[in-house]
Amino acid sequence: MAQTKLNEVTKVFTEDDGNEIVAVDDVSIDIDDGEFLVLVGPSGCGKSTTLRMVAGLETVSSGTINLDDRVINETPAKDRDIAMVFQSYALYPHMTVRENMSFGLEESTEMGDDEIAARVEDTAAMMGIEDLLDRKPGELSGGQQQRVALGRAIVRDPAVFLMDEPLSNLDAKLRAEMRTELQRLQEELDTTTVYVTHDQTEAMTMGDRVAILNDGTLQQVGTPLDCYHRPSNLFVAGFVGEPSMNFVDMNRRTEAGETVLQSDRFEYPISDELAADVDGSSDLVLGIRPEDIAISDGAPTDAHDIEATIDVIEPMGDENIVYLRFENDDASLETESMIATVGGMRQFESGQRVTAHIPEDAIHIFDASTGEALH
Ligand code: ATP
Repeated sequence: MAQTKLNEVTKVFTEDDGNEIVAVDDVSIDIDDGEFLVLVGPSGCGKSTTLRMVAGLETVSSGTINLDDRVINETPAKDRDIAMVFQSYALYPHMTVRENMSFGLEESTEMGDDEIAARVEDTAAMMGIEDLLDRKPGELSGGQQQRVALGRAIVRDPAVFLMDEPLSNLDAKLRAEMRTELQRLQEELDTTTVYVTHDQTEAMTMGDRVAILNDGTLQQVGTPLDCYHRPSNLFVAGFVGEPSMNFVDMNRRTEAGETVLQSDRFEYPISDELAADVDGSSDLVLGIRPEDIAISDGAPTDAHDIEATIDVIEPMGDENIVYLRFENDDASLETESMIATVGGMRQFESGQRVTAHIPEDAIHIFDASTGEALH
């Protein structure tokens, strides 16, 4: 068990032509003892590079990585007491499962053969692979190889597990099963785990906390619910949640003491309390999650009711995804659209005029120029 700290960690790669790539830019994260932290972000945002620096597979350009009170920047990978699980499993093809699992222990510990054998058996039982111990990786399915790769990490009883997209080669059903199993194992072992994925659903369902990266920089660290309900900026708001949050560009104006947000297609009065939060900026972005929009077929009755036309409906079984179009008489302006999700039993049809209710207590407001959340 260990506390892992990244302090202002930066990684710069220099390409052959001298061009510098800042893969990780000034990232600081404190990972608690026993925590399951998920590093998530789009392809190329620096997740793997961050993990590889913690593992000792990549040097740190500046900043420090601590394991408890030790700075481990210069500690060789094999001496870090960290076990890594790769997307490719990285099993030795010529060794049996038993040999794959015991190899690391024979190399790096003083443990006797009997103790190693017993630990391998115990871990294999925990992973449900005891019948596979004498097979070679080529004789295993992808899911079984994945269990062996995890078993090989677990048998070492390291201070920290690092996992780089370990489930991405499995089919959707097996991936969902392994997600749950991994969470259960992590809780049982209570070992600090840093898990990399580009899949926001995986991040939101697995992590105690998620650290969201974009373009090498840390955007937000928090519980999944925190990042969902209180995104710190436009990037996080758009990245977390499926379908994504709707965004509309708005200008702020004050009219007879009331603050009104105005888009090309509709206006949206806001309360004094909300107006105080957005006081400093006039170019804003209004954000609303698809599930927070209520659709009805009656006429607008409220200042936050907006007339819209249904463009398309996608039935998804338990819910419908409804594509809404906002229009007014000025044809020179761009059409504005939003996505709403409504329960599967609601009957709407494409082309129908409806009222979309956008409740003020569900909206997010961002500064259009900095992207920072204001409310
Ligand atoms: P993915 O989800 O696609 O694996 P990632 O978020 O893990 O992406 P990294 O692999 O950490 O991203 O890469 C971050 C950036 O650093 C990318 O722009 C990548 O091209 C660059 N990069 C990674 N490794 C090297 C390297 N050895 N030399 C040069 N550039 C590199």
